[in-house]
Amino acid sequence: MDTSAKQGTLVVISGPSGVGKSTLCRQVVRRLDAVLSVSATTRPKGASEMDGKDYYFLSPDEFQRQRQAGQFLEYAEVFGHYYGTPRQPVEQAIADGRIVILEIDVQGGLQVKQTMPEAMMVFILPPRMDELLRRIEKRARGEDAEARQKRLARAEAEIETGKAHYEYWVVNDRLDQAVQDVIDIIQQRLEVGSQKTEQ
Ligand code: 5GP
Repeated sequence: MDTSAKQGTLVVISGPSGVGKSTLCRQVVRRLDAVLSVSATTRPKGASEMDGKDYYFLSPDEFQRQRQAGQFLEYAEVFGHYYGTPRQPVEQAIADGRIVILEIDVQGGLQVKQTMPEAMMVFILPPRMDELLRRIEKRARGEDAEARQKRLARAEAEIETGKAHYEYWVVNDRLDQAVQDVIDIIQQRLEVGSQKTEQ
């Protein structure tokens, strides 16, 4: 048996809502031929979303059943809904030597760091707080003042956690530059890893 088979790399990408994580992650995945983990969630499906592609949309009971069966690598409650990373596809892709990207919130990110300390932790920051505010306002159109306030408070708390616990911070000012920064960070880590195995 070949015991030197290359293990893959797990990359956690987090950042406040409205920072542009999803677009950034999709581009990184395409350019690195990486695997983007599809999360499970109990939140309602959006009109443009596809079950099994954007998320696995589960009932609260089904989510709890899978959680109790240990099927999530991590899970968290965000804005009153549960989100979790299905464990099996991630473990399989890592065993296959792939780069796996998890786009998850900071609570989930910290759980992954606990169970897989070798995971890379990348946090996406807005160029300026007022810019993030503007994007959150845009996204929260139709929500009341209290809900908007909640989103903002949560974004601030996420940024505090990100600054305290994540290893790499990337400012998403220009998307193409931010994508390149994340790719450079991952590739640097892969190079260091392969130098270590060669020694
Ligand atoms: P949305 O409902 O806007 O797609 O996602 C809301 C938040 O949940 C985002 O911050 C997103 O990163 C986070 N999220 C999505 N999937 C997961 C997951 O599997 N685990 C955790 N912990 N957070 C997730």
